[in-house]
Amino acid sequence: MSAYDDSNIFARILRGEIPCDKVYEDDYALAFRDIAPQTPIHVLVIPKGAYVSADDFSEKASDAEIAGFFRALGKVARDLGAVEPGYRILANHGRDAHQEVPHFHMHVFAGKDLGRMIKPADK
Ligand code: 5GP
Repeated sequence: MSAYDDSNIFARILRGEIPCDKVYEDDYALAFRDIAPQTPIHVLVIPKGAYVSADDFSEKASDAEIAGFFRALGKVARDLGAVEPGYRILANHGRDAHQEVPHFHMHVFAGKDLGRMIKPADK
């Protein structure tokens, strides 16, 4: 796994160097709207610590960071009103998943019928 690069765009958002459309923040996580939304509601939830991916986060983050991150993720889904109609969470890592920003983040997609998880033709 490549080392964390603190010049990535989400690190810069966390440092306040560039703005974001914030929807939630606490000691462990920041959530903001994706700049290029793929669904009517498309929010990114990121931990405040420097982690590249879900596997990096799960290996190195403290129990408090992991709990805090997932509690924030659930709060964001509830606050967005996405629980009843439904939502999808997704995290990309690495080349095959086309990860664009190397700071661990979970996408929250909602606001429309999201279809099946993977199209049969994609298998
Ligand atoms: P990935 O492919 O790494 O899972 O997704 C990265 C996401 O970050 C993309 O959906 C992209 O639109 C979003 N993104 C990239 N740069 C920015 C930015 O500067 N601000 C915000 N809000 N989202 C960004």
